[in-house]
Amino acid sequence: MYARFLVIMIMLTVIPVIVVQVFYTRYFIDLVRNNRSDIARNYAAVISEELLASGYLGGTTSDTIDAELSQFAHMYNGRVIVEDASFVVRADTHGMITGRQLVSEDAILAMQNTEVSVYNTSTDMLRLTYVIHSPEDESVSGLILMYLSCADLTESYRSVAQSMIIIMTIFSIVLIILSFVLSHSLTKPFNTMSSTINRISEGKFDQEVSLKGFTEIEQISDAFNRMLSRLNELESSRQEFVSNVSHELKTPLTSMKIMADSLNMQPDAPVELYREFMQDITSEIDRENTIISDLLALVKMDKTDSDLHIQPVNINEMLELIRKRLKPIAARRDVEISLDAQSEVIMECDEVKLSLAISNLVENAIKYNIAGGWVNMALSKDEKYCYITVTDSGIGIPQESQEKIFERFYRVDKARSRESGGTGLGLAITKNVIMMHKGSIVVASKEDEGSKFSIRIPLRREQTEEVKA
Ligand code: ADP
Repeated sequence: MYARFLVIMIMLTVIPVIVVQVFYTRYFIDLVRNNRSDIARNYAAVISEELLASGYLGGTTSDTIDAELSQFAHMYNGRVIVEDASFVVRADTHGMITGRQLVSEDAILAMQNTEVSVYNTSTDMLRLTYVIHSPEDESVSGLILMYLSCADLTESYRSVAQSMIIIMTIFSIVLIILSFVLSHSLTKPFNTMSSTINRISEGKFDQEVSLKGFTEIEQISDAFNRMLSRLNELESSRQEFVSNVSHELKTPLTSMKIMADSLNMQPDAPVELYREFMQDITSEIDRENTIISDLLALVKMDKTDSDLHIQPVNINEMLELIRKRLKPIAARRDVEISLDAQSEVIMECDEVKLSLAISNLVENAIKYNIAGGWVNMALSKDEKYCYITVTDSGIGIPQESQEKIFERFYRVDKARSRESGGTGLGLAITKNVIMMHKGSIVVASKEDEGSKFSIRIPLRREQTEEVKA
């Protein structure tokens, strides 16, 4: 990229300089030569009047005119010849052919009223003719042939061109150096970015880029840093999740090992002890199973919502089913479950997943309740949304924990959760399901009074409005 950029920069700067030099100097020399030709013609116009007035073309001699012609010829290091209408040379500043007849091509053309103006590159001379017209009838009465040297012009052109070459060369060198510097400073941020990206691909997420320069580059740098910090967050939450998972999975294994070891160490242990330990081991295995099932459920939910099997579901029936299923468990803990539904609600959703999410809430409401307590499910709707609340008269959740309970493995009271078979994954699963349905879930709770979980889900899938939990 650097090399390409450099070549483009050099092309954009140096080529115009060369083009300007070549064309401008050409144009300049043409302009100066044309100017000389104009001066000569003006001079010829003035002198031709004198020639006519003095009768010079008819043979009258005039020293003044001869002197003037010589002076002009001398001034331009050239030669001036005056001929009459019969091609007889009346004046020649070189004095070589005066009185002789000179029938040159230019003279013939002049007699036909056509003037020429030609620059000869090899001799560096300007050759031009001027036709003298008779003032009476405008007929051709004579002509002036002028040969004027342009050596002085060429000389000054050369020195100008030389200085131009020097100036332009210095200018080009400066531009090339500038191109190097600019290309380097413009491509540097991209190089920095690419090496940072390389380090990230090697798994080193603790990077930060600080690109200075154009606003756009700084914006890229900021956006990149934001992306990096998000990546860091994700990476640390992934690591935390992995360590939590290992810890949770190890706990039942450790207890099983302890029990098995203690049995092994007592070869004469009574059968009752064996039975008791085996029962404990079985319940640890069940617990391990529950954790793994919950984890699998959670991992599945992390995938896209294309896994949802959406269909119209009668939510009243779904909640009634949950109530019936959990009623015996609630009864065992002396907790009453009730269901209030204002009207029939049909919602487009994944029945299995939503049922799991609500069951988790109701199970929690039973688990974290008091003997003689109650759990209430309520269902309502408006044109857009379905509203489900699960309220309990349980132990409540401390204010500072209410934000965290949806995190994986977070438990307010580990012992109580474990005792009641909790894995700390239930609410994380519930929240994932609600998010997949583009809904929201909030909790309101007071310690020793109870908790209320409120869910809002769009009734129809095409309602794409994202709702934050
Ligand atoms: P668990 O398997 O431990 O129940 P959850 O993710 O379902 O895990 O819940 C996380 C924690 O939130 C629980 O351990 C408990 O401390 C608290 N919690 C959840 N629901 C309630 C509730 N209805 N009343 C009181 N505490 C609750």
